Amino acid sequence: MDKQLIYNAIDAKMSRLCEISDWMYHNPEIGHQEREAAKLLTAELTQHGFTVEAPFAGMETGFKAAHKGGDGPTIAIFAEYDALPGIGHGCGHNIIGCAAIGAAIGLKDAWPDMPGTVIVFGAPAEEGAVDNAGGKVFILEHGALNGVDAALMIHPSIRNALGGSSNAREAMEITFKGKTAHAAGAPHEGINALDAAIQTFNGFNALRQHVKPDVRIHGIIQEGGLAPNIVPERAVIRMYVRANQADYLAEVVEKVKNCARAGALATGATVEFRQTAKTYKDMVNNPTMNALFKANILALGEPMSDSVGAGAGSTDMANVSHEVPSIHPYIAISSKKISGHHVDFADASVTDEGHHGLAVGAKSIAGTVADLLLSPSLLHEIKEEFSKHRALSTEH
Ligand SMILES: [Zn+2]
Repeated sequence: MDKQLIYNAIDAKMSRLCEISDWMYHNPEIGHQEREAAKLLTAELTQHGFTVEAPFAGMETGFKAAHKGGDGPTIAIFAEYDALPGIGHGCGHNIIGCAAIGAAIGLKDAWPDMPGTVIVFGAPAEEGAVDNAGGKVFILEHGALNGVDAALMIHPSIRNALGGSSNAREAMEITFKGKTAHAAGAPHEGINALDAAIQTFNGFNALRQHVKPDVRIHGIIQEGGLAPNIVPERAVIRMYVRANQADYLAEVVEKVKNCARAGALATGATVEFRQTAKTYKDMVNNPTMNALFKANILALGEPMSDSVGAGAGSTDMANVSHEVPSIHPYIAISSKKISGHHVDFADASVTDEGHHGLAVGAKSIAGTVADLLLSPSLLHEIKEEFSKHRALSTEH
């Protein structure tokens, strides 16, 4: 198979892919509400002859689109398309979704009888800002990765780089309940739930000094009362806790909960905890697949950073990476030093550099999938690596 034919098929699709990505930029939809984005992406896949299931895995905005050429391995490409509240596509998931379908469409158009199966999973709500975030975990729990040999996706960045580790993450909501009273007339009769939340944040601030450096504890006070002259009856914190190791994460989560229990005890409020998203694991990038991806980027004539895109952030792709060999590399959409979860990052996705990144993302995914389909021995090596790592991590 001449990969150039696949790349030509992607080039032929580029103007439509950019149109969809730009539409998503102008019309951002947060997790589990990405209805229009999911419709646009699945419409293209249907038009190109993929078998599309949508909704999927119990999620209204989830989908699965598959094409089987001949017998052979099954490779999954993950698409994300959710935005962040308030700042739109500040994480560039419009690029992720369009690069994923672009890769699949290029592969199928140029190589309909490919020796194997390509699946695009539409995975909603990667961002933890919404309830029940973690679409990939729902897809996993649905059993949809049974029979999948390897999985990959790309994520926009300011450089082309291989993926490294990511933090495991727990997302929770902490609700304090107190008692209203006239804040001036009879404050002694009230129980101040906002004070409980403030005490809790002071506890977090003290705790940060006594956890390992990879730990991140961060949150917001989402509700803190109704009016200055009413003692706040209810306060709500939304929190993330992250750590590199799942077992250490569990330890820190307990300490975080103790901060909230202390805040409640000090004020007389009650406290309740609710997990708001699936627990995200730590990302394990497969070394051989990473090397393959790098070779594909370089063959496209694109630069590749030596640095690894390791981060303190988290992704539900990590949960996939514990089930099947996976990679989560980064693709440049801007040469400026912009940071993620900022409007500048969203703006970059619709520039010429952003569109170029989309094309590079689609082609590097497609090139890597082609290698995996064509080389059983390579896939064998990748799976060996994966089982070795899995054996080590379960020993741990
Ligand atoms: Zn992201």
